[in-house]
Amino acid sequence: MMLFEITPKIFPARAETRIKISPLYEHVRFTKSVYNVEIIGMEAHDGSSVSVDARNGALSFTIFGAREQEYRIRIEDAAAFSVYCLDDDLFGRIPLKGDFHIHSNRSDGREPPAFVAAASRKIGMDFMAITDHHRYAPSLEAIDAFRDFKTDLLIFPGEEVHPPNNPVHIINFGGNRSVNGMFGERYEAEVGKIAETLAVPDGVDSVIYAGCEWCFEKIRQCGGISLLCHPYWITGDRYNVASAFLDYMMLRKPFTAFELLGGHEAESNNIQTAYYGEKRSEGLLVPVVGVSDAHSVMGGDYFGWTYTIVFVNGRSLEDIKEGVERGFSAAVESLPGENHRAYGKLRFVKYALFLLREYFPAHDARCAKEAEAMFEHIRTDEKQGGFTNA
Ligand SMILES: [Zn+2]
Ligand SMILES: [Zn+2]
Repeated sequence: MMLFEITPKIFPARAETRIKISPLYEHVRFTKSVYNVEIIGMEAHDGSSVSVDARNGALSFTIFGAREQEYRIRIEDAAAFSVYCLDDDLFGRIPLKGDFHIHSNRSDGREPPAFVAAASRKIGMDFMAITDHHRYAPSLEAIDAFRDFKTDLLIFPGEEVHPPNNPVHIINFGGNRSVNGMFGERYEAEVGKIAETLAVPDGVDSVIYAGCEWCFEKIRQCGGISLLCHPYWITGDRYNVASAFLDYMMLRKPFTAFELLGGHEAESNNIQTAYYGEKRSEGLLVPVVGVSDAHSVMGGDYFGWTYTIVFVNGRSLEDIKEGVERGFSAAVESLPGENHRAYGKLRFVKYALFLLREYFPAHDARCAKEAEAMFEHIRTDEKQGGFTNA
């Protein structure tokens, strides 16, 4: 619900941009002949005030963004707006909202793959993959279901990879083959070889660590994005991945990104964000994502609570990977009834919060409309199967 249209909402730094504010309803037209427009840069003392003539009930003026930041525009007591000024490297990128890790009833989730994909669109996701435990095929089912259906939702292949005798969970997002399907006779010998080359610190099992690197490397070879999953998930009275192990992995960084926020306990997410802060303070670039790891999309916990906004140059898997790898992403937490919280580098956090307030509500509403057509499409498709575990 908007009273005005303001264009553009996003503009480049160190250039003059013409901003136009047009009323969408008769009762909010600018009826005086002149208005005082205050332009306030949120960072430091950057601001100006201009007199603007109203034309046909609308206002138009020039703004010069001195540096990357949000600008507030106040028009006397009549209205207030927010716009965002971006440095060139971010100005050319589009924000995509996505979930890298979610389950269907082909493993331990509740609903069929195509249904999970449509439900993801319903809550505003631009990209996703079904990442069932040990299974790659369900992700292909979701892709197949919409092969002849025009949707802007990018549905990628994926799976949650569980190396044998290894507690670490790994996501293969977008890889063109199943890594779970590669654990053949040679696996143990190959991992043993990698382990021999490592000088692991105390408290790190070289074979378990080598198994992880083997998986990350296979995902890389398949063109996928690899995630180290929920390290501080508490399972069997222990963290899933011990800090010493994680520290060693962070230095070698064989994966694409670290699951900063996952759909597990609030405590785990809290520890992961503290861990991230510590690694950043040590000077490490740690690419981060938020994922839901939801096991149900029907009012179950986690679905839509944590996700990623990645800033990309295009809409391909390669573009998403480039964005994540270079740290152009924010992990976002949107808990029911609470404000959005974004995590990652400061500039991306600020920009993500602006987008969540000023851009994503309209974006998500458009996605929800498209999702209705997606649900209708799969409702009549017999291949989709029932709501039982396969
Ligand atoms: Zn897992
Ligand atoms: Zn999972």
